[in-house]
Amino acid sequence: MMRIAIIGGGISGLTAAFALEEHRRAGAVEYILYESSSSLGGVLRTEHVSGCIIEAGPDSFITEKPWAADLCRTLGLGDQLIGSNDADRITYILVRGRLIPMPDGLMFMVPTKILPTGFSPLFSWTTKIRMAQELLHPPRAADADESVASLVERHYGAETVDRLADPLLSGVYGGEAASLSVRAVLPRFAEMERTHGSLGRAMLAARRKMPRPANKMAYPLFTSLKNGMQQLVETLVPRLNQASLVTNASVQSIQREAGGWTLSAGLKSDHFDAVILAVPALAAAKLLSVCSPELSAELAAIGYTSSITVGLGYDRDVRQSLPPGFGFLVPRSEGKRLLAATFVHNKFPHRAPDDRALLRCFFAGSNAENIWQLSDDAIIAIVRNELQQILGLGAAPLFARVYKWKSAMAQYGVGHLERLDRIERLRLQLPALALAGNGYRGIGVPDCARSGRDAAEYMLKQVR
Ligand SMILES: Cc1cc2nc3c(=O)[nH]c(=O)nc-3n(C[C@H](O)[C@H](O)[C@H](O)COP(=O)(O)OP(=O)(O)OC[C@H]3O[C@@H](n4cnc5c(N)ncnc54)[C@H](O)[C@@H]3O)c2cc1C
Repeated sequence: MMRIAIIGGGISGLTAAFALEEHRRAGAVEYILYESSSSLGGVLRTEHVSGCIIEAGPDSFITEKPWAADLCRTLGLGDQLIGSNDADRITYILVRGRLIPMPDGLMFMVPTKILPTGFSPLFSWTTKIRMAQELLHPPRAADADESVASLVERHYGAETVDRLADPLLSGVYGGEAASLSVRAVLPRFAEMERTHGSLGRAMLAARRKMPRPANKMAYPLFTSLKNGMQQLVETLVPRLNQASLVTNASVQSIQREAGGWTLSAGLKSDHFDAVILAVPALAAAKLLSVCSPELSAELAAIGYTSSITVGLGYDRDVRQSLPPGFGFLVPRSEGKRLLAATFVHNKFPHRAPDDRALLRCFFAGSNAENIWQLSDDAIIAIVRNELQQILGLGAAPLFARVYKWKSAMAQYGVGHLERLDRIERLRLQLPALALAGNGYRGIGVPDCARSGRDAAEYMLKQVR
């Protein structure tokens, strides 16, 4: 029987374990999952405070990528899936201290409707003229990868990078448009430029081809779970073999030995036929530093940023005083520390009672590092000060919670896909090793779930 070690108990490792579980019951494999912390789920964590559901890590997953919702359905959570309240979707951008709604027809950062963009105070006249001229942009097949900022600037100018591309990407990757790879992060944009030249014309062409859903609300932009993202972990974990789950077990080394892998966690060591590394690429790099220094160096070059989320609950008066919509994004040029805030009570149903407002504030990258050492109270004071400046919100919160995530968000830098090719070649030189997690082909929960499942299937193929 094949013995498989899964290192990392976040959603990637748990999904791998779930994919192996039925084969374990059938007697084909045995697995042990090692998690260094005391709990499973990684960054998926939900807290319930005075009737509000606070997400410490991810608050949802993008509906377009099916793997997380599919996993929920397989676990019998289909009726627990909820969609974002897209009918109320307004996202504001802070421009010179004022919250400006993103105009209708903006698809990610590509304008597809002339009038709303033309009348929006979000852009200067120079940018609006650039946007109109962009429709004539000639096709271009870039021979090398470039940053998202460089592609967007070529099409729409530097203001669009500052006011749209950078804040939108910071909200997802916690990184900067100037360092993220367009091919890894927005592959569709590179392809649209190659085929159509103009991103605007390409988006319009793609929209014409898209089947119109009979019921728009059946395809919300974001999906989550009624009781919060941790509901996924709490449903998945009991479906696994409990004796196979080892928490408070930080794996310190893995070595090739006797045709397999010897793994050390604390004072214990064990021998396995195969290993699934479902940890951040940086942690995988450390574990592989002895048996493949070359692979380890490539993994270590995948950058990670830290982030801080702050959940704040308020009373009915605040709820009534806040603007409608999902929340706001803050361009770096505004000189604030906050990168984004979500009006959670508007974005999703079931998140807060009718007489409560729930805000989720987000710091990432250098903004998070700069306040990392501060106490929770000091961080809450910074959040309150900035909310006062941005929203005029002076009221004291009924409760506040701070969550810090050290080096948890992978940064796909320029050349990321080429690095993945090198990683794949080096990985295949080591027998029965799989990599899963957010360092490779998608940072979101659905991509991580898929990566865990794929890693398990790769191992199962070796058994057959
Ligand atoms: C604040 C925040 C907000 C986010 N928001 C969203 C969102 O709204 N939607 C979305 O789709 N995605 C979001 N993401 C991204 C997504 O949540 C993560 O990329 C994904 O959950 C990562 O899962 P994972 O299992 O790969 O890694 P992790 O959750 O990081 O789990 C890895 C696990 O490995 C363990 N580990 C590490 N080293 C060792 C070792 N040596 N031995 C044993 N165990 C080890 C760690 O303790 C950890 O539990 C967000 C991420 C963060 C941090």
